Amino acid sequence: AQIYGMELVESPKETYENIGGLGPQIEEIREAVELPLTKPHLFEKVGIAPPKGVLLYGPPGTGKTLLARAVAHQTNAHFLRVVGSELVQKYIGEGARLVRELFDLAKQKAPSIIFIDEIDAIGAHRNDSTTSGDREVQRTLMQLLAEMDGFDNRGDVKIIAATNRIDILDRALLRPGRFDRMIEIPLPDLEGRLAILKIHTMNMSLGEDVNLAEVARLTEGKNGAELRAICMEAGMFAIRMEHETVSHEDFIKAIEKLSTDFDRHHFHTS
Ligand code: ATP
Repeated sequence: AQIYGMELVESPKETYENIGGLGPQIEEIREAVELPLTKPHLFEKVGIAPPKGVLLYGPPGTGKTLLARAVAHQTNAHFLRVVGSELVQKYIGEGARLVRELFDLAKQKAPSIIFIDEIDAIGAHRNDSTTSGDREVQRTLMQLLAEMDGFDNRGDVKIIAATNRIDILDRALLRPGRFDRMIEIPLPDLEGRLAILKIHTMNMSLGEDVNLAEVARLTEGKNGAELRAICMEAGMFAIRMEHETVSHEDFIKAIEKLSTDFDRHHFHTS
């Protein structure tokens, strides 16, 4: 459901099976988010506080949102998502109020996972400029910090944030009791790309000549979102030829097409 300023999903359908690569990252997030939700007594017995917030950082399109949704699925938690840039640009003057409402709703719907995408849009370190836009951003950030400090971490509300720009984040966000667990989500390596290609071709009719390992080798530097696009484009090449299965050649053409589109896009926007 789309509530004013936020997205609420009862329990997302994505699972860890839908994520290619990222094995160690999945382990880490399970330990930080899932374990405290499913076995809180262990933390009580041992006497340590589970992390309240986890920060996922790394380049765009690598599966940060996907991972957060899979955690919510696994824990049967509500998934509440806001986008940092929208909080301060789309709903001008209401960022702080939206943050308050977000946490209220999360507590009401617990167990729940709050996902804050593009947290750098509200959490960039402060400079001393005092334009009204900056003040709005600061007010929103202050509200977020207050909300995080205000609820106790034995509760069943967990916060996951994502950023492509960890370098500009305000240190205040990373203090103990806030986003004190950081997980890097990198671009997929060869093995990761193969795993992602397998996931996104699972429901496709592939010809016998298709060599996904070769496709993985030819797509160095591509992220998960781009790999998914390559699979869809390969399917489109097959459909244009009125073929019912996708050939290796279709994948090669898709890689070429998307690489040219990418270059052209960058040429026009730079
Ligand atoms: P951004 O930083 O741009 O928000 P993100 O890291 O949150 O990106 P996602 O939104 O999770 O990236 O990825 C976009 C889509 O790309 C996913 O819905 C999925 O289809 C595909 N994708 C990305 N990474 C992976 C992955 N590791 N495994 C499988 N699919 C992936």
